[in-house]
Amino acid sequence: MTELYHGQCLCGAVRWQVAAPLQFMAHCHCTICRKHHGAVFATWVAAPLDGFRYTAGEDQLGRYQTSPGWYRPWCRTCGSVAWTAMPEQGMVAGPAGNLVDDLPVRPEFHMFVRSKVPWLTLADGLPQHATFLPGMEGNAPPGEPPVPIDGPVPPARSPGCRGGSCACGRVAYEYSGAPLRMYNCHCSRCRRARSAAHATNLFVPLEGFRYSRGEALVREYRLPEAQRFGVAFCTACGSDVARRSPQINGAVIPAGGLDDDPGMAPQAHIFAASRANWYAIADALPQFAELPV
Ligand SMILES: [Zn+2]
Ligand SMILES: [Zn+2]
Ligand SMILES: [Zn+2]
Repeated sequence: MTELYHGQCLCGAVRWQVAAPLQFMAHCHCTICRKHHGAVFATWVAAPLDGFRYTAGEDQLGRYQTSPGWYRPWCRTCGSVAWTAMPEQGMVAGPAGNLVDDLPVRPEFHMFVRSKVPWLTLADGLPQHATFLPGMEGNAPPGEPPVPIDGPVPPARSPGCRGGSCACGRVAYEYSGAPLRMYNCHCSRCRRARSAAHATNLFVPLEGFRYSRGEALVREYRLPEAQRFGVAFCTACGSDVARRSPQINGAVIPAGGLDDDPGMAPQAHIFAASRANWYAIADALPQFAELPV
């Protein structure tokens, strides 16, 4: 019997299954991936199209068009990224972060490293490609090129502020003052929320935070069974965006959405005990099984 791998969005409305063999796994640092996921890089896997199907909620998907004929699907309730069919190649590609089963494949390379955030150090020794792996342009995850790799021009920030924006550029946010902390979180909720190997969250003081554009387009989703776990996303493109969290008197910024260097790099890996089986932590940052004590 063919091995099946199962995935779902954060809220569970959209579910899918994909049949072996998974054909490649790679990290993408392009700006559209970073903003759409809110993660500092996306990790894609691909598989034969005929082994893939949505088992629930396909009608719940929003689709963000990044170029003619290319769409990035996302759950309209929670913003998780879903899978894209590439009929001409007979393939389907999607985010590894939402697959709930252990996977037999491992990341093979980094692509679009030219768009990598400056504060991320790649320590895993994998090959790094400035854009696509040479020869792969025809069957790569959708969206680049020919769309502008670097997305819309970010909006100007107020003096003394740093900020970020969504992939379509309709939502932008900024903050003043020094950030509080920044963590890579490997919990299963963060992996599903960001559709990525892990979330990288920047916490900033609430008083200095504001949406500078498109706040009316921002939708929040709170996980019902969690005390405070939530996400915010742009309802025009599905990108994860910053979210106010009054309980911690702060705002949580998905670091992949930043247009500026926050002046801080991740301080630790948290919930490292929950990390995906296919992702190895290669850097020297402190690791906590759950939260720092
Ligand atoms: Zn969902
Ligand atoms: Zn990408
Ligand atoms: Zn948007």
